[in-house]
Amino acid sequence: MSDIKDLKGIGEKTAALFHKVGVFSYDDLLHYYPHDYIRYPQIKQVSELAAPEKAALCLTILREPALLHVRGKTILSVIAGDQSGALTLSWFNMPYLKKNLKAGMKRIFYGSVQAKGDSLKMLQPRLFEKPDYDRVQKSLQPVYPLTKGLTGNTVQKAVKQVLSDGSKTEDYLTEKEREELQLWELEKSIRSMHEPADFEELKKARERLVFDEFFFFIRSVRRLKDQKERAENAYPMIETAECARLIESLPYSLTGAQERAYRDILRDLSGDTAMNRLIQGDVGSGKTVVALLAMVNTVKNGFQAAMMAPTEVLAAQHMKKISETVRALGIRCILLTGSLTAKEKREARERIASGEADIVIGTHALITDTVEFSRLALVITDEQHRFGVRQRELLSGKSGKGMPHILVMSATPIPRTLAIILYGDLDISVMDEVPASRLPVKNCVVGEGYRKKAYEFILQEVQKGHQAYLICTQVEEGEGESERENVLDTGRDLQEYFGEKLRVGILHGGMKPKDKDRIMTDFAEGRIDLLVSTTVVEVGVDVPNATVMMIENAECFGLSQLHQLRGRIGRGSEQSYCIFIDTSRERRQEKKPNERLLVMNETNDGFKIASEDLKLRGPGDVFGIRQSGDFSFRLGDVFKDAALLKKASDFAAETEGNPEKEELYSKYDRMPGNVSL
Ligand code: ADP
Ligand code: MG
Repeated sequence: MSDIKDLKGIGEKTAALFHKVGVFSYDDLLHYYPHDYIRYPQIKQVSELAAPEKAALCLTILREPALLHVRGKTILSVIAGDQSGALTLSWFNMPYLKKNLKAGMKRIFYGSVQAKGDSLKMLQPRLFEKPDYDRVQKSLQPVYPLTKGLTGNTVQKAVKQVLSDGSKTEDYLTEKEREELQLWELEKSIRSMHEPADFEELKKARERLVFDEFFFFIRSVRRLKDQKERAENAYPMIETAECARLIESLPYSLTGAQERAYRDILRDLSGDTAMNRLIQGDVGSGKTVVALLAMVNTVKNGFQAAMMAPTEVLAAQHMKKISETVRALGIRCILLTGSLTAKEKREARERIASGEADIVIGTHALITDTVEFSRLALVITDEQHRFGVRQRELLSGKSGKGMPHILVMSATPIPRTLAIILYGDLDISVMDEVPASRLPVKNCVVGEGYRKKAYEFILQEVQKGHQAYLICTQVEEGEGESERENVLDTGRDLQEYFGEKLRVGILHGGMKPKDKDRIMTDFAEGRIDLLVSTTVVEVGVDVPNATVMMIENAECFGLSQLHQLRGRIGRGSEQSYCIFIDTSRERRQEKKPNERLLVMNETNDGFKIASEDLKLRGPGDVFGIRQSGDFSFRLGDVFKDAALLKKASDFAAETEGNPEKEELYSKYDRMPGNVSL
């Protein structure tokens, strides 16, 4: 396979940038798909602008650009205009552009235009010479995922070179099969992904590649299933008295669904083959305690158990709750996350290897670091959609004696037909019941005009002794879509607004793990009243005293993500409230609420939301909002592409066991772009 360094214009430095995004070979590059496409619009006049919109303008720069430094960031701005009017162009953190902008210069600028008061602003515009603009306007332009230093232009040029080098990507589907499956040829599809003439072509190309993704994924699920059927129970267990004691000591009684899931687990742990079970339960159904019971039982049978969480915040939270609960049973827990110091990690590893630690709770660090267990018999992964099946397998290999029992907990509610395909290697327990003491969350979907009222409502709840979340799509201004609210400004403004009356905390993914941890602990222990955060709180965080969630620009989130977010409230016995701030076009222009937010308003049932989501998005909208994080497909979306998933599943079943086909497909199993596990 050819190395990207063989391409013209790619030296060590650029190659290193490509390596960062996982591109090493020509093949990798071909499967490095754009994540969006734009069609550049006709050039407009300033007077014709209807902000907010993305537009192209032919402007003359009127003054020398100015460069400002604000809190470690730079803002470059310049005033430019045509005969109909003028506006400000600004760029965040691109100071080097300054030397390209000279007064009197005329260029095409393309970017998103926003109105602030009566003045107009274009953010992060791209510059073109007129002939270049005319050229790009003729076709759809790919937008590649990038990393710092790697530009779209570099990627596009490299892709072009590879596409024109004459080598061919063989198709593993025969012409007849393609016809039956109504799929395009592989080579043609790859080409069209990078250089589509129009959306119709893109749709067909994408369908083919999504099929491939699903097909190879399903093949690996089926392989895992085979392994599972062979894996005998290397750690047979009996039910121990401590579990019954623990259940007795809980401040509540288990729901019927919790009881059933726990029984399923006990049956697996004592059975002939190793456990491979998925617990699928809506948010707030109480999965943690079921996991805890499984771990206690494992430890009391003389083994070790490990629990992996997708974030450090969540791992720390589990550690705190679980170690408190099991201390009385003489069980020793240890936390192992990436943010420990080298020394702490070493000590933790030693205690795990010596068997001094019974329960290990951690993040990915558990897998990627060299952890040796002394007698690992149970691995639990919480909120699994963030964990690949491959990582699961990796960790499985750490036990030494044999495949440990595996318990996967997922709060992603997916219809049963899809679950059977995606989790074909697992037995499934569904927890379809929430504790009876809960009151359903009260929802409201409102426009921006309601913000002030919402703040007052939050204050009222805080004065009653409760806590609140405020969620924004982005961390700071100038990142992505800048007309949206952001965590840093909102946090600061609200602290000012509330003054002494309320303590505001800020949380986002870019913070140091230690700081995140401190903020989360402060919130959990009531030292913060209002947590302004990005979706880092989405997964699993449990602060039952929080009773309000306000979600800014709510229409920008996927439905299942909104459902996960909302799951952070309504966890205690008090009434909770979720306020969705709807800034959609429908709301702004037609004074109608956003259709998807209405779904959130009407139901709190995750399974219902998932199926509504499926209906609303339909197979028609090719590049709708992607479900964040759910299953790690590059292109495919299990909801939107459910029909392709079914197709791929049927085809996998049809061709399984055919030795010729097996040999052929196995060559493609690890083709870049295929999710092979
Ligand atoms: P999830 O399924 O979303 O992971 P958790 O396990 O975090 O939910 O549980 C949510 C909250 O409900 C926790 O505060 C937990 O203590 C509480 N809880 C769990 N089971 C019950 C139950 N049977 N009755 C009442 N509260 C429960
Ligand atoms: Mg949870």
